[in-house]
Amino acid sequence: MNNNHLILKKLCLFKKDCTFAAHFWNDSLFEHMTKLEGYLKQFVVQFSGLSLGIHEYKFEVVDLFFEQYAIEDVEGGNINVDFSLEKRENMMELNFKMAGTLKTVCDRCLDPLEIDIDTNDQLLIKFGAETNSDNEELLILGPEAYQIDIAPHIYEFITIQFPLRKVHDDEDCDPAVLAKLQEAIATPEDDDDTTTNMWDELKKLK
Ligand SMILES: [Zn+2]
Repeated sequence: MNNNHLILKKLCLFKKDCTFAAHFWNDSLFEHMTKLEGYLKQFVVQFSGLSLGIHEYKFEVVDLFFEQYAIEDVEGGNINVDFSLEKRENMMELNFKMAGTLKTVCDRCLDPLEIDIDTNDQLLIKFGAETNSDNEELLILGPEAYQIDIAPHIYEFITIQFPLRKVHDDEDCDPAVLAKLQEAIATPEDDDDTTTNMWDELKKLK
C-alpha cells in the first residue's frame, strides 16, 4: 500500500462515508485512478523553463482521456496530437494538429461507428495581471503561471469536430435494423414518437 492509498483510507474513515470508502478500498479501482492520473499528467506542459522558439510534443488521446473529459455519445477514441508551443518574448502560440477517430454508435442502426477527426487549431497565450479564459482563441495567464494543462483545450477542439448527426454511409448500416425500420413504417397504427423518428431516418436514406 502506498502513502496516497493510506491517506485516502484515513479520509474515508474521517468522512464516515462507507460508499466512498468501499470504492477506494478496492485496489483495482485505486490502481486505475492512479493510472488515469499518470496519463493525464503528460498534458501539463511546463513552459517557464523553455527557451524562446518552437517546442514540439506528441500526445495520444486514448479511451482513458474520455473518462476525465466525457463527450456525450463518445465511447472512446484514438487521436494523435502533434502539439507545438512557440515561445516568444511576451506571448506563446500553441498549435494542436489532431488526427484519428472517435468511437460512437450510428444514430440510424445503432451499430458501432467511427468518426474521423482531422483538425488543426491554435491558441494564443498572453500574460496579464490575472488569468482570463473568456476568449476561446486567446488565453490570458497571470504572472504566477508557469505551466498549462492542454487537455481541456484538446477536449474543446475535439468536441467542436464531433458531429451532431452521426450515421454510417447508407450502404454500411445494419440491413437487419433497416428492415425493422421498414416494418415499423408499414404499421401506421404504431404512430408514436419512435415510429416518427424511424420514418425520418428512413426518408434520409432515399
Ligand atoms: Zn448505421
